Amino acid sequence: MKIAIAGAGAMGCRFGYQLRLTGHEVLLIDGWQDHIDAVRRDGLQINYNGKEVVSDLPMYAPSELDTGYEAELIILFTKAMQLDDMLKAIKPIITNKTMVLCLLNGIGHEDILALHVKQENILLGNTMWTAGMEGPGKIKLFGHGSVDLQNLHPQGEAFAKQIASVLSAADLNARYSDNVLHAIYKKACVNGTMNGLCTLLDANLAGIGATSQGDAIICTIVDEIITVAKAEGIALDRQEALANIRQTFNPDTIGLHYPSMYQDLIKNNRLTEIDYINGAISRKGKKHGIPTPYCDFLTQLIHCKEDILGAE
Ligand code: NAD
Repeated sequence: MKIAIAGAGAMGCRFGYQLRLTGHEVLLIDGWQDHIDAVRRDGLQINYNGKEVVSDLPMYAPSELDTGYEAELIILFTKAMQLDDMLKAIKPIITNKTMVLCLLNGIGHEDILALHVKQENILLGNTMWTAGMEGPGKIKLFGHGSVDLQNLHPQGEAFAKQIASVLSAADLNARYSDNVLHAIYKKACVNGTMNGLCTLLDANLAGIGATSQGDAIICTIVDEIITVAKAEGIALDRQEALANIRQTFNPDTIGLHYPSMYQDLIKNNRLTEIDYINGAISRKGKKHGIPTPYCDFLTQLIHCKEDILGAE
C-alpha cells in the first residue's frame, strides 16, 4: 500500500519505519529541514528496542511533493496545534480517494479534519505507542503499545478494518473500534490529569501519585471530563478511568516516566497540546453549559508556564 506519513517526528517515524518493514511503499513528510537533511544524508537512525538500525525511508518537505503523487492512506502525526497547517500544506496530495487517519493525542481533531478531507475518507484513532526524538534524523523506540481506530462515516468501515490489519501486520497492535471516541476520551482522562500536573509540579507520575492532594485533584478533573463526555454522547466509567490513571503511579512500570507535556515544555521548551486536552474539555463544557473550572485553570496555568519559559 502507498502510505504517506504527514508529520514525521518521533511517532511518524515509528509508524513509517514499522510499516516499511512489512513491504509498504512509505513516504515521510515533514517540514523540519535539519531532520530532512540528516535522513537524506545518513538514513533514519533508529534505536529499536536497544538495537541500532538504519532505514532509508524517503522524506520530503510538503513543498517538494509532486502533485501527481497519490497515497492510498495518509497518517497524520503532527502535534495537535500543527494539524490544520499540515493539512493545508499537503492539500495537493489529498484527492477524493485518499483516506486519512488521524492518530494525534487530544480531542476534537475531527472538526479540523472535516475542513480538509471528505467525511467518508476520515479515520480517527489514538495510540498507546510512544517514541522519542533524539535529534535530527534520530529516534528511539521502545516499549509496547496499541492503536484503536474507526471510520467517521459508515462508508469507511471496510477500509478502517483493512488499516487495522495493515498496522497489526507491522506489529503495531491495532484494533478496529466501534466506539473510538470512547478510547479517545479515556486517554484524555490520563493526559488531562497527569500531563498538566507533572508539568506544573515538576514531578514524575509516581511523584504526583505520592502527594496528599494529587488524587483529589485527579478525581475532580476526571469528573469534569466524564460530564462533558456524557454530554457528547460518550459514556465513561469513572472507576475504570481512575484505575487507568492510578496504575501509572507504579514506579515498577511507568511511574518514573515524565509525560510528553513535561518533555515538550520543560525539557524542550516547546508549546504544549493543552488546548486540545483540558482546553478542549473547557470549550466543549461551555458549549453544553457545563462548568469545568479545573480544566480551565490547568489550561491557563500551562499557558502561563509556556509564557514564562518563552516556549515556541
Ligand atoms: P513530534 O513533534 O516529534 O513530530 C511532529 C512532526 O510534525 C515534527 O517533526 C514537525 O516538524 C512536523 N510538522 C508539524 N507541522 C508541520 C507542517 N505544517 N509541515 C511540515 N511538518 C510539520 O511529535 P510526536 O511526539 O511524534 O507526536 C505526534 C502526535 O502523537 C502528538 O499528538 C502526540 O501527543 C501524539 N503522541 C505522541 C507520543 C510520543 O511518545 N511521542 C505517544 C502517543 C501519542
